[in-house]
Amino acid sequence: MDLRFSRDETAFRTELRSWLAGVLPGLAPKPTDPEDWTGRRTYDTNWQRLLHDAGYAGIDWPAEFGGRGATPTEALIFLEETERAGAPYVGVNFVGLLHAGPTLIAEASDEQRAAHLPRILRGDEIWCQGFSEPGAGSDLASLSCRAERVGDDYIVNGSKIWTSFAQVADYCELLVRTDPDAPKHRGITWLICPMDTPGIDVRPMKTIQGSSEFSEVFFSDVRIPVSNRVGEENDGWRVAMVTFSFERGTAFVSELLGSMQLLARLVEVAKKNGRFDDGGIRRELAHLAAEFDALWVLTKRNVTQAESGVPGPGGSVFKLHYSEARHKMGDLAMRILDRDAVALDGDLSEHVRGWMHAMSITIAAGTSQIQRNIVAERVLGLPKG
Ligand SMILES: Cc1cc2nc3c(=O)[nH]c(=O)nc-3n(C[C@H](O)[C@H](O)[C@H](O)COP(=O)(O)OP(=O)(O)OC[C@H]3O[C@@H](n4cnc5c(N)ncnc54)[C@H](O)[C@@H]3O)c2cc1C
Repeated sequence: MDLRFSRDETAFRTELRSWLAGVLPGLAPKPTDPEDWTGRRTYDTNWQRLLHDAGYAGIDWPAEFGGRGATPTEALIFLEETERAGAPYVGVNFVGLLHAGPTLIAEASDEQRAAHLPRILRGDEIWCQGFSEPGAGSDLASLSCRAERVGDDYIVNGSKIWTSFAQVADYCELLVRTDPDAPKHRGITWLICPMDTPGIDVRPMKTIQGSSEFSEVFFSDVRIPVSNRVGEENDGWRVAMVTFSFERGTAFVSELLGSMQLLARLVEVAKKNGRFDDGGIRRELAHLAAEFDALWVLTKRNVTQAESGVPGPGGSVFKLHYSEARHKMGDLAMRILDRDAVALDGDLSEHVRGWMHAMSITIAAGTSQIQRNIVAERVLGLPKG
């Protein structure tokens, strides 16, 4: 692994840094109300449009599909610089840019790619992910949302849950059961579902943070054209694995950079309120800083492996360790904040929200237990439990 940057990579960083310095001061303020979904969509998609117009949209998408075609190291520099500069996060563009778009690049027809990829890159089209169901989360292959083929359409009935950003999404990457008699992994199909199709009912759910980041989505006789199918009928499990390979890739890396900054601010809080005088607290802060540093080096190792074309086991190891380190930081922040930990507004609230957020990331995109199973079976070669 080479930790140095090449001349081209350094030039890329310099150019990006100067673009960010020019564009960020002119940005409209972020909506303060987390329930202002129209405002949030506008804010996130405006930023996507700016990235697009400057040639930074789809940083690691291949150039032939409208992306920047950056190397994994350049993509990492992009995340590092945008986070350092305090640029907006990918927000509601998350699913489209980070896994639906890449799945279409890998698996869709030319017509499907032409219809969606340019619009995702410009921030004109928002996607959500309709995979999980009340009875199918970790055991996703048990999903039962049914699609029956009638002529040139599938008629979909059933429900999905935990669908992030469903209330602002234009399309959904939807997994449905097309053959209930086949073994469970073999009767699934991956569909492009337009969210304005009649029969779709989106019911937002409030999280512990007080905003509705995800929804339940109900389907009653929803007609989806067969031409919206990605891959073959009943081959959707394989397509979903392609989606997961992107979802569990670098999705959490920019979060790590944000966590390092949050930890530095937590140290300042501890210095101000006297908790830093406690040697035990200082030791815990230092351990966390060391863990985040180690995760950053692991990320560079994963990137080096990706560049040499050898897919490493790093994605699951990173996701597992990062999300658990965030839990530790949340618990420590609660002890440092003491009575201030009850406030969900004010300067210190970012630490309280960070603690709440930590609870969700050991579950999202595959729970810690599932990541441990993957590491045990696929990395360490242990027998299936
Ligand atoms: C913030 C957030 C956003 C999300 N966004 C989306 C989205 O946009 N679209 C979407 O489709 N889904 C989304 N999800 C859902 C997510 O994928 C599921 O919550 C996750 O897969 C776990 O499924 P579950 O909640 O049904 O828990 P379950 O699968 O019921 O798990 C319950 C517990 O049992 C454990 N467990 C289950 N199976 C095993 C096993 N084999 N071995 C050991 N332990 C096991 C789990 O680790 C967990 O602790 C989101 C979740 C979160 C938290």
